[in-house]
Amino acid sequence: MNLLIASSHSSHTYSVMPELPEVETSRRGIEPHILNKTISDVIIRQHQLRWPIPKSLPNKILTLKLKRVTRRGKYLLLGFVDNNTVIIHLGMSGSLKICTPSTPAGKHDHVDFIFNHKIVLRLTDPRKFGCVLWTNQTIEQHKLLSKLGPEPLTDDFNANYLYAQSRKRNCSVKAFIMNSHIVVGVGNIYASESLFLSGINPVRKAGSLSILRCEKLVAAIKQILIAAIEHGGTTLRDFTRENGQPGYFAQQLHVYGRAHEACPNCGKAIKQISQLNRSTFYCTACQK
Ligand SMILES: [Zn+2]
Repeated sequence: MNLLIASSHSSHTYSVMPELPEVETSRRGIEPHILNKTISDVIIRQHQLRWPIPKSLPNKILTLKLKRVTRRGKYLLLGFVDNNTVIIHLGMSGSLKICTPSTPAGKHDHVDFIFNHKIVLRLTDPRKFGCVLWTNQTIEQHKLLSKLGPEPLTDDFNANYLYAQSRKRNCSVKAFIMNSHIVVGVGNIYASESLFLSGINPVRKAGSLSILRCEKLVAAIKQILIAAIEHGGTTLRDFTRENGQPGYFAQQLHVYGRAHEACPNCGKAIKQISQLNRSTFYCTACQK
């Protein structure tokens, strides 16, 4: 899925990989169309995604009713009876849309889940870094999910937790909050934005965070992600549109993508650096 980020006083447009808000937006967008519907067919046009789609997947879920559409980190989980779960990850460029069986499939439309013979959940993924897997083990124990840190929007992600996890950590605070074993869903854009909002220098060592800074950082991460999901929510009505990508949304960004522009807080030029080969944007005056 592409995330279009339009800023109010410049015309930058970025196409970036789906992050937690886009996946949550997708979850909310598809759920009302497919919940409690029954799988009548599964069409796999391309098995070779990040991992091969199991050949047995259609048979595992055929005739089963979809009981839950949930999310863990950036994994979308289609939950059927008896613990049968389809795990979907959108990778670098994946998106989901709802259409009908008569909607012609494009070159990158790799998988169709057909419900009640008439509703299609279609996975599009030009770069093929996504995945579609099946399991019937307890989903929390699946190897892709079992080591994930807490969901950022739950009470399990709080200042005391972040403070305890950060002790004796020498990595940068940006790398720390982007580590999915610490907390899921803080992608590159959201890391820069939440560090700006909490006034924390991204290169500061994680182990040097005070409890007060942890409180500010946790609050900022929640605020940024909630705002992003709410922005995404405004596009849900377009989720079934036939042309164009679903889930495009615009979000106001304070520092990300704004190198050399004025800090919205103090007016000093925003600095761009590279950390772990990812761009970081911050204000050297406001973020200590
Ligand atoms: Zn500033």
